[in-house]
Amino acid sequence: MTGRHVYDAVVVGAGPNGLAAAVELARNGCSVAVIEAESTIGGGARSAETTLPGFVHDLGSAIHPFGYASPYFRSLPLEDHGLEWIHPPAPLAHPFDDGTAAMLERSTEATGATLGADAGAYRKIMDPLVEDARAIVATLTGSPEVPRHPLALATASLHSLRSARRIARDTFEGEKARGLFAGSAAHSFLPLEKRPSALFGFVLGALGHAFGWPLPRGGSQKISDALASYLRSMGGEIFTGFRVRLVDEVPRTRTVLFDVTPRQLLPIAGDHFTERYRRALKRYRYGPGVFKVDFALDSPIPWKAEECLRAGTVHLGGTLEEISAGEAAVARGTHPEKPWILLAQQSLFDGTRAPEGKHTVWTYCHVPNGSTFDMTERIEAQIERFAPGFRDRILARSISGPAELERQNANLVGGDVAGGYMDLRQLLARPMIRPNPYSTPAEGLYICSSSTPPGGSVHGLCGFLAARAALRRLEKLRRDRTPR
Ligand SMILES: Cc1cc2nc3c(=O)[nH]c(=O)nc-3n(C[C@H](O)[C@H](O)[C@H](O)COP(=O)(O)OP(=O)(O)OC[C@H]3O[C@@H](n4cnc5c(N)ncnc54)[C@H](O)[C@@H]3O)c2cc1C
Repeated sequence: MTGRHVYDAVVVGAGPNGLAAAVELARNGCSVAVIEAESTIGGGARSAETTLPGFVHDLGSAIHPFGYASPYFRSLPLEDHGLEWIHPPAPLAHPFDDGTAAMLERSTEATGATLGADAGAYRKIMDPLVEDARAIVATLTGSPEVPRHPLALATASLHSLRSARRIARDTFEGEKARGLFAGSAAHSFLPLEKRPSALFGFVLGALGHAFGWPLPRGGSQKISDALASYLRSMGGEIFTGFRVRLVDEVPRTRTVLFDVTPRQLLPIAGDHFTERYRRALKRYRYGPGVFKVDFALDSPIPWKAEECLRAGTVHLGGTLEEISAGEAAVARGTHPEKPWILLAQQSLFDGTRAPEGKHTVWTYCHVPNGSTFDMTERIEAQIERFAPGFRDRILARSISGPAELERQNANLVGGDVAGGYMDLRQLLARPMIRPNPYSTPAEGLYICSSSTPPGGSVHGLCGFLAARAALRRLEKLRRDRTPR
């Protein structure tokens, strides 16, 4: 890592955004090194046997609607580097106490069929979005496409700026459609009364129909490994086990991109910034944390609603009212008795995840940032409610509260897995309002983590967009150095 060589760019942090940034720089002819604090690469996209031998659990991300739809990932030969996507027959199941389930199926028609009287309302609101899903994701890379339904898209955009609770109540009459929408909206980490929680309900639903909610065969680590393998094939280097504490510690380079959040960036590079930028980084807000439990099971989950076995993801929390009350409790700094739970059952569709006949289950619920409360019992009770007999199938569990998550990955400040709160203000001003949010006031220093637009999830877009900003400067430096 030392020596007289000067890299074009050094990336601090080998999460999906750091690796994406490095790949974009390398494929544009730059020499790149990535420096990772932990002993393994991948940050929020890693997998390991954390319960029993042979059971592969995802330490962070599990299900990847954004990763699969990401126009950037789609432009890379990741399949040639070992990435294989698996599409469960249905993206999502949302069970209710009466033993039925609302299902997010690939088609809006099949989804509507599980929503009773709200089938028509669901299709009316979703169909135009689904048809324009590619145009929507293209805007995220800064290459907007002309939408097929501009008017419907404009209306949906206005709706998405509202609260999920408002949209669910105004649009749907029954508990099924309301609950299904609320479950996806809860991914915002916002109380469902707060704007723009509806955005997450619309976007996740539309992605499910247009692209699916797939998982990588072998675990989310495979996404990171594929990015790393492609990077190395272009000459990029990756060093693990070195935590950068000061920007001066990185190897000689023309550019540094930080895959870290504002709280970490301040001590590392704060001296190089203006007072105004430092203040903005200090004021940057983090969202609720998560409490995560992974299970090794000796058989699939015995769902009351058997169709849940067709879905990679299951949202537990029942009605809009219950999910909304749970998320509001978290926002107040308390711990809901019946939390909204995000559950993935990867091994049902990926035989590499567990020994034959056995299964892995990944779950988390939201808790106040930095919480030390143990939610294991409440998570298990919630699963048991929709799947009586679940507890009898548990062979082992691995539990990570916010402190443990942050110990595994310093970016997970207080257990916040999204790189910062995602209300309207902070979705736009991420980490602060600047003509280019990836640049900093210090020339040659950039931020490329999910604390920049478009925010959390494994999609690599923050890294890609930060790399594009860095490349513009590097190309200018190259031009200036070339004798005319
Ligand atoms: C429990 C959990 C569940 C999630 N579920 C999903 C999901 O199902 N689907 C989805 O799309 N997303 C999910 N996410 C979110 C997703 O993982 C993140 O949004 C994504 O990983 C962000 O990528 P990143 O590169 O910005 O940061 P990270 O992935 O957090 O990577 C940052 C990297 O930087 C390293 N680092 C930090 N500080 C330093 C330093 N000083 N020196 C050197 N290295 C440093 C860290 O060790 C880490 O490897 C989940 C995350 C978690 C934790």
